[in-house]
Amino acid sequence: MPTTIILLFTLVLLQLAGYLVFSRNSDARFKRRYFPPFVTLSGLLVVLIARDGWWLAAPLVLLVIYRQIKSTQFCDFCGATSWMPQARFCATCGARLTD
Ligand SMILES: [Zn+2]
Repeated sequence: MPTTIILLFTLVLLQLAGYLVFSRNSDARFKRRYFPPFVTLSGLLVVLIARDGWWLAAPLVLLVIYRQIKSTQFCDFCGATSWMPQARFCATCGARLTD
């Protein structure tokens, strides 16, 4: 049980740090480089928290990780993060989003 609390606390801290880095930072190259490992680490923590149900959580977490990485884009012009799947233009500055 204490392990679960430590994992939950780590996940909360990681999500808070992720929010600060990926929402407030305007460096699109940095975000592209570190967003996939961030999402993957977060998913791994969720699977570890599931403990005995890891075999049920793992496929769902993998699907969420894949969708999250594929649908999140970063604007080259202003560095904003677009969470909208298949968005073609930045919601902040209107620049065209590239892959
Ligand atoms: Zn933009």
